[in-house]
Amino acid sequence: MSDIYFFRKNIIKRISFLVLKIFILSILLFILIRCSSNLKKSAPADGDEVSVQVNPAYFIKEGLVEPITKVDYKLSDGSTVACYKIVTKTTPTEHTMGPWCPTNISDGADKGGIWMESGKVYDVDGAFVKNLATFYKDAKWKMYRADGSIMVTNTKEACEAAARPNVDPAYQNFCVQCIPSYVSGLKQIFYIPVTPVVAPNQESNIDNLPPGPPQGAGNNRPVNGERRGPPQGGRGPQAGASTIGIAFNGVNFDPPAPTSDILKHYTLAPLDDNGGHINPHAGYHYHAATGKTKKIKQADGHAAMIGYAMDGYGMFELLDEAGKEPVDLDDLRGHYDAIRGYHYHVGPAGGNKFINGFRGKTGGFSASF
Ligand SMILES: [Zn+2]
Ligand SMILES: [Zn+2]
Repeated sequence: MSDIYFFRKNIIKRISFLVLKIFILSILLFILIRCSSNLKKSAPADGDEVSVQVNPAYFIKEGLVEPITKVDYKLSDGSTVACYKIVTKTTPTEHTMGPWCPTNISDGADKGGIWMESGKVYDVDGAFVKNLATFYKDAKWKMYRADGSIMVTNTKEACEAAARPNVDPAYQNFCVQCIPSYVSGLKQIFYIPVTPVVAPNQESNIDNLPPGPPQGAGNNRPVNGERRGPPQGGRGPQAGASTIGIAFNGVNFDPPAPTSDILKHYTLAPLDDNGGHINPHAGYHYHAATGKTKKIKQADGHAAMIGYAMDGYGMFELLDEAGKEPVDLDDLRGHYDAIRGYHYHVGPAGGNKFINGFRGKTGGFSASF
């Protein structure tokens, strides 16, 4: 009786041990499979020896509406990859915004922002405004009254009427500015590939940035903030790369400001000293990198990092710590090194252009209240 009892007990013990063994083995196998698929996922997708992933920790938390998450997202070519979803407040937290327009022709540079012309940056101070007819060799420029006060769009309605292609004639010869309170509550959503993926036919990537606005368009598309739809030419509606990239404060680096449209109507839409201004529909955004946003210093003296392009490649300042420009940039304004992988160097502040095109497939961007 007791023998049988012990025999049975032994069998049960052996079986439960076997079940436990199988259980542990399957868990190990599961983990192994997961790991290998993860490895596959995070392998460099751009074919470079060194491929650097987007680092969400670089972003300033105060600029985010919610923590950055990883989601599957359809890129510009329709392929789906892991992207960071970055929801931002379009409000810088490391610098103030403005001023943009001086109010009197006697105002100093501290009362106004900057303007870009022919690759150069000019202070928009009172003297600059007073001198516009000479500067642009056109006597129709006169943005100030007999008492020296400068015509500035001082209401949301004025900012909207002046910041569109068919500028309300009443706002010709106005300095156009929109202030932060007009766009409070606006948020932007960026989808940026975790690991950059090179787009095929790189030659055709040159100038594959979002197109500038059509000349003389008669819609209500804003001029000064210029938010546009996705680029033409076969890019899906999700492409939506109507922005170049994102600064670590969550503000977007935008395509060139349509300065010829702005000037055609005898208006100025100055940037502040940080290189940004406000559009009533899309909020604060940059057209120039003037060194005022958060930077990631590089240990080897290379130019500091200032953000990410919409294809996930890093965006760096133009000059390195010795004040030198890189000499081997490709047509897109990028190059490769073994520390940073492929990355871009933005154009000079007066150039009204951050980069010339995307090397990689781009994620998506939208702005809404
Ligand atoms: Zn703009
Ligand atoms: Zn570099």
